[in-house]
Amino acid sequence: MINTAARQTYITSAYIHIPFCSHKCEFCDFAAVAGLSHLEDEYTEIICKEIAERTAKIDQTATPIKLSTLFFGGGTPGLANPHNLEKMIKTLSKTAEIDSSLEFSIETTPHAITREKLQAWKDMGINRVSIGIESLNDSELRAIGRDHTRAQALQGLELASSVFDNINVDFMYGLPTQTIESWQNTLDELVSITQENSAVTHVSSYCLELAINSPLLSRFPRSSQAYPADDNMVEFFEALLKTLTNAGFDHYEVSNFALPGFACEHNMVYWRNIPYLAFGVGAHRYVGGVRSANYKSLARYMREYMGDEMHEVIDDSTRVKEAIMLGLRMRRGIDVVEFEQEYGVNLAKDFGRQIAKLESGGFVEFDGKQLRISDAGVFMSNAILSEFM
Ligand code: SF4
Repeated sequence: MINTAARQTYITSAYIHIPFCSHKCEFCDFAAVAGLSHLEDEYTEIICKEIAERTAKIDQTATPIKLSTLFFGGGTPGLANPHNLEKMIKTLSKTAEIDSSLEFSIETTPHAITREKLQAWKDMGINRVSIGIESLNDSELRAIGRDHTRAQALQGLELASSVFDNINVDFMYGLPTQTIESWQNTLDELVSITQENSAVTHVSSYCLELAINSPLLSRFPRSSQAYPADDNMVEFFEALLKTLTNAGFDHYEVSNFALPGFACEHNMVYWRNIPYLAFGVGAHRYVGGVRSANYKSLARYMREYMGDEMHEVIDDSTRVKEAIMLGLRMRRGIDVVEFEQEYGVNLAKDFGRQIAKLESGGFVEFDGKQLRISDAGVFMSNAILSEFM
């Protein structure tokens, strides 16, 4: 029943993780470390070995690597010495073809941005900068343990937009001390910025989610009145949706908004469930039908850079379910005919029960041609998507 023949034939995307940060934010559960930047040169040597060895293991007669998106994520790659970033790209270009129209992004904190670095990024081909601003309210920034201020955020953004014309900004809601009024103020200010500054083309916005042992919980336990009430999170999300869509942003993915033509191609690869490479501590990849992740501990990764902390062979049934879950994250949803061509699965027939249940709850819309999450279902997306697993 499942069509295993129609598969993506190229690897088009690569992610490179740089874990070093100026400070470890108290909510952060990423593979990120502070105070260890003296290891950056050694880390660069190791990641270059990983890039060379992993790409050499790929049979490029069957699956050529032709990169159309590259992403330096972290951590704070914006803090790294640009020469080290360049070494990684040069290593990758020895075994991977890099498309001339590459979307090439780098993540940074606003206060890591300098004019010299911006120029160096541009010189190495980077054409998209993603800035973790998170809030334009100083007390919220302090509450989540960020080490930048609102003034530094605005300064970094202005500097970046003097060199780059394609900038993403990250914002968070559900923060301790945040209220619906302060969130709306941040959103209104963001919209004013985008109206004056055409370089801001993309906004990512996530609700704060804390790991079970998050350091933030020692200052703000889950029971703290400082968090907005869970019941109000829909209101926060609706404010985000309404403010940004009224300002001309397309809500193209559950947590992402873009001006026309500026959806993030790199992230679309994840949501389209097609293969991608990834290198560096804690990095997750999907190659040859296998999802795998490097060690999340920096020390262990640096000793065993080819070792896997996680390794899962994705069978055809899981691949189909993942494709539904990821495809539904995109607001345009899933084209039923394309899905059947790719996976040999008729959504109406093979997932009719789940679709009918979600449709009757008002969480998805299905006209027989396109399956998509409804506006009401977007905020509940994780719970809805798990129906398909
Ligand atoms: S800057 Fe980003 S990656 Fe680094 S600790 Fe803070 S949230 Fe984590």
